[in-house]
Amino acid sequence: MNHRVIIGLEVHVELKTKSKMFCKCSADYFGQKPNTHTCPVCLGLPGALPVPNQQALEWCVQIGQALNCNIPLFSKFDRKNYFYPDLAKGYQISQYDEPFCLGGHIDINGKKFGITRVHMEEDTGKLTHESDSSLIDFNRSGVPLVEIVTEPDFDNAKDVKAYLQKLQQIVRYLGVSDADMEKGQMRLEPNISVSLDVNSKTLPKYKVEVKNINSFGFVEKAINFEIERQLEILQKGERPAQETRGWNETKNATVSQRLKEEANDYRYFPEPDIPPIRWTQTQIDSLKASIPELPDEKLARFQKEYSLSEYNAEILTREVAFANYFEEAVKVAQEKTTPQQIANQIINKKINIDEILPAELIEEILKSNQTNDLDINELKLAVKKVLKDHPQIAQDFVKGKTSVIQFAIGQVMYILKKKVDVNLVRNMILEELK
Ligand SMILES: [Zn+2]
Repeated sequence: MNHRVIIGLEVHVELKTKSKMFCKCSADYFGQKPNTHTCPVCLGLPGALPVPNQQALEWCVQIGQALNCNIPLFSKFDRKNYFYPDLAKGYQISQYDEPFCLGGHIDINGKKFGITRVHMEEDTGKLTHESDSSLIDFNRSGVPLVEIVTEPDFDNAKDVKAYLQKLQQIVRYLGVSDADMEKGQMRLEPNISVSLDVNSKTLPKYKVEVKNINSFGFVEKAINFEIERQLEILQKGERPAQETRGWNETKNATVSQRLKEEANDYRYFPEPDIPPIRWTQTQIDSLKASIPELPDEKLARFQKEYSLSEYNAEILTREVAFANYFEEAVKVAQEKTTPQQIANQIINKKINIDEILPAELIEEILKSNQTNDLDINELKLAVKKVLKDHPQIAQDFVKGKTSVIQFAIGQVMYILKKKVDVNLVRNMILEELK
C-alpha cells in the first residue's frame, strides 16, 4: 500500500438510569409525548441547579474500568459553551481536562486499541425539521451520556467495526445501557485522515469527522468512502479540509456539514454549580469488584469449563441472557446430557430463549435422544428386511445401477411408516450393501 490510514473514534452511549443526569425527570423518554419529561433544570431555566446522578457517575467509572482505564480520584464537570436551539442553557455540562477515566485499551483478535478517555456529559434536546419550521423536544435533554474516545489506532474499517461491536457488547454486559442504535442510545463518530507518507510517525495535519452514525454498517461504508475521497484529493497534491461531515444513506456518501471548530471555541470552564467529584480508593475498588464477568472472560471460561469450540462459545456469549440461559440448562440437565449437546441444540435449532424454558429444552433433548436410538435400531431392521426381500437391489447395485437405491429407500419408508431422515436411510442402505 502506498498510503497510511489513521482512524480514531468517538462513541456516545446513553445510560439507562431511571432519572436524568442532573434532575429527577425520567430518562426513559423514547416514544413519549414531546416535552413531557422536563423540568426547570433540563429546560435550562435561569436559577435552576443541577444535582449529579450518582448511579450515572458510577456506571461511567465502570465503563472505564471495563476498558482498562485509570480512574483518577479527582474529577470535575465543565461547561462547554455553544449555542444551538436544542441546548436551551447555551452550554452543555461535560468534562474537559479531568474526566472520570483515562488511558485504557481494548483487545480484539490480538490487536490492542488505546482508549484515550471516558467522560460523562448530558444529552441535548432533539430537533425535528419540517418543511418551513423546526420542532424541539426536550425529553432527551439532560439524559446521561458517556463519551468514549479512542486513540487514532485504527487503520481499516473492519477493525473499527469489530471494536464497536465489542464496545456495545461490554456496555450491555455491564447492564448500563441497551446501546440500541435505532433508538439513538449508541451514536458513532469516526475521524479519518490519510497520509501518502507511509513511514511518517506524525499524524496528518487535518482530520475529517463523520458525525452521528447509527449503524456499524454505515460506519464501515463512511470510512471506506472517506479513504477514497481523501486519497483522490491528496493525489492531486492538495490537502483535504479539516471538517465535519455526515453520512448520507441515500447518496451512499459523506457530505460536508461544517468546518471544524477548535476546542477553545467552546470556551470550556469549570462548572460552578457542581463541586468537583472526589472518589476514595475504596469506592473505586468496590465499583471494580462489582463489575460482572465480561465477554472475553466468559468466552474463555465457556471453552474451558464446558469444552465448547470457540465458535459455539462465541455465539453463546454474544449476549448475557443467552449465556445465562445456556448455563441454566446445563445445571438443569444434571449431566443427563452434555454441554456440547445443549449448545448444539440452542444454536442449531435457533432456540428462542423467551419461549422455551431451560428445563423444557433439556426435556426435548432427552426425548430426541431416546427416539433417535429407537429409530436407528428399527431402521437397521427395516433395511435388512428390504434387502432380504428384494435381492435384486444388491445385484443391480453391484452392476452400477444406483437408481435402485431410491427404490430401496421407498421400501424402507413403507415399512417404518414414519418420518425418517432420507439421508440417514440412504447411508444405512449403502452401509449394508458394502
Ligand atoms: Zn428535568
